[in-house]
Amino acid sequence: MRALKYHGAWDISLEEVPELHANGPDDVVVDVKFCGICGTDLGIVAGSYPIAVPGVTIGHEATGIVAECGPDVTNVKVGDRVVINPTPYCGRCRMCRTQRINHCVNKMGTESGVSYDGAFADRFLTTSEFVHVIPDHVSLQAAALTEPLSCVLSGVRKLQPPTMAANTYIFGAGPLGLLYAWALSLKGLAPAVIETSAERLAFAQSRLPDGARAYASLVEARSGHFHDPNAPLDVVVDTTSGLLEEIYPLLACGGTFMSIGLKEKRFTIDGMHLADRSLSVIGSIDSLHGSFLEAFHLITSGRIPAERLVSHVIPLSDFPRGFAELGCDIANKSAKPARSASCKILFDIASAGSSS
Ligand SMILES: [Zn+2]
Ligand SMILES: [Zn+2]
Repeated sequence: MRALKYHGAWDISLEEVPELHANGPDDVVVDVKFCGICGTDLGIVAGSYPIAVPGVTIGHEATGIVAECGPDVTNVKVGDRVVINPTPYCGRCRMCRTQRINHCVNKMGTESGVSYDGAFADRFLTTSEFVHVIPDHVSLQAAALTEPLSCVLSGVRKLQPPTMAANTYIFGAGPLGLLYAWALSLKGLAPAVIETSAERLAFAQSRLPDGARAYASLVEARSGHFHDPNAPLDVVVDTTSGLLEEIYPLLACGGTFMSIGLKEKRFTIDGMHLADRSLSVIGSIDSLHGSFLEAFHLITSGRIPAERLVSHVIPLSDFPRGFAELGCDIANKSAKPARSASCKILFDIASAGSSS
């Protein structure tokens, strides 16, 4: 079988590796069909998220068909279409028992595709607890967005907007920005999405929920969406991980700034203002207890049209093109913000041909 292996910054290759099999009683082996490229993968490849273990297979947003099951597995059978939850947790440690499974102390790292072998590969090995059968009416492509949506729902749980009229701004119209727009609109908010790439902005515009809109700048968003050039900033979600220092002085009293990006950057903020103006600066990453199934429900029930956020489906054999569409040029070792009309890019694992 083939697997996309990480060896170090800018050093990834599609390699032939020993085929995975279900050797343990609770093992499930999935023939991977689709696996999304995440910002985490871009950071791993570009060396800006130096957490991945050299030698691992990257990729973690996957769906596929069950190929093998151990004898104790009862929730899935060979041939079932499944979505993979790539974030293991033990359920017993203090973090798991206090609603923080994303920081389970027994998982020895972060998630599959970072600390353990992931799913940019023909096969993925997991245990029965971490696969869920996809209903017939939902495509494997749509279900592949379950994991990123589950991370978004973790963040949404932490946000406490003062009212449904809270002026809400999302910076970045990538997959997470658009998923935040959908999830926050289900919470009653009407976010403005800010995206500086004209191509991404155009892609986003027709894929936002009613009441949300994308703008090229904060200035345009304040005037265009909230009809006031000085519109307060009540809730801000920064998917770019670079904006805290710039946005912090603009936050309305009682406002919240949430950072969900994984780029290294240091900030200086005024601690007196934090208390005096009742501000919240928070971060969020990974799934919380139940958020994977919550995300799966929002996709299978059609309340979040995940498939509309897929901009490209590219064969895994053509992986440099998938990364390049997201600004990560492996051959030239250059990482820039995505400038093409790209959003969620899925690798079609089994396809050998060329597609868009
Ligand atoms: Zn991800
Ligand atoms: Zn745990």
